[in-house]
Amino acid sequence: MKACVLRSTARIETNPLEFVEVGVPEPGKGQILVRVNFCGVCRTDLHVVEGELPPRKSPVIPGHQVVGVVAKLGEGAHRFPTGTRVGIPWLHSTDQTCEYCRKGMENICDHPTFTGYTVDGGYAQYAVAREEFVYEIPASFEDQQAAPLLCAGIIGFRCLRISGIEAGGRLAFYGFGAAAHVAIQVARHWGAEVYACTRGKKHQELALRLGAVWAGEAEEAPPAKLDAAIIFAPAGELVPPALKALKKAGVLVLGGIHMSAIPEFDYDLLYEERVIRSVANNTRRDGEDFLRTAAEIPIRSEVTLFPLSEANRALNDLKADRINGAAVLDCRAA
Ligand SMILES: [Zn+2]
Ligand SMILES: [Zn+2]
Repeated sequence: MKACVLRSTARIETNPLEFVEVGVPEPGKGQILVRVNFCGVCRTDLHVVEGELPPRKSPVIPGHQVVGVVAKLGEGAHRFPTGTRVGIPWLHSTDQTCEYCRKGMENICDHPTFTGYTVDGGYAQYAVAREEFVYEIPASFEDQQAAPLLCAGIIGFRCLRISGIEAGGRLAFYGFGAAAHVAIQVARHWGAEVYACTRGKKHQELALRLGAVWAGEAEEAPPAKLDAAIIFAPAGELVPPALKALKKAGVLVLGGIHMSAIPEFDYDLLYEERVIRSVANNTRRDGEDFLRTAAEIPIRSEVTLFPLSEANRALNDLKADRINGAAVLDCRAA
């Protein structure tokens, strides 16, 4: 099969992913082999390629928003017949025995594995997954529409839950990429008022088109005090302005897996019971609840397609803020 392989971490501008022929993986016990149709491109892939996340497998095939069909069952796998359409997410497996898993917090499991990071992912024509960690894709979504829901969508949904936002509440998104453009549709469905703090006219326009009441630059103060804010951009310098925009007891959620250093700020910004919380991964429950909600709304994702062979270009465009909505790789005709 064809795949994009990362042999050693490097800046994406050097195009480190090699588009090469590799063996089709064999599904092991409890695993399924999936023929990949589309794979969403996530900022985490950029962190894997550039080494902001310490390398855990080398070489590795990135990609963790995989939509495809079950092609082969490993020993003991029986959840899906071959031909079923499934989505493979970031969380490849958990130990299901640590204190966090036992408390329903498998997203922070002590011994997790991750698709496209600790095991090979979906920048390829085939990928293997543990059958109990994949999702069935609601029939109403086309493959390429569904791909960005599998990480950007689910993580955005968990951020929204943790923000505690309710109908009539005011919520800001800092950074308006793949996750925010899906999350705004959920927030609006819940009856929240959304403010978009993001650089670039194109992202601001997309936010307004999707129903934001206001869009401006990230450092600009939104015109109303907020109940909650979510920072999707990997930029620690956004924490002080986001805190400043919150009401008393407001909640600031940090949605990224990696963020640059947070600058020093006055305690006044946090005082009056404001809260900062990070979000790490998601539980399978988050994923299932989100996909059901997404089908009900229904969510529409803005997708920019790239051929699998041009994964480097997709990641370069993501880094340079040139993607409106979500980038998705077409892995069918590689
Ligand atoms: Zn665990
Ligand atoms: Zn992701």
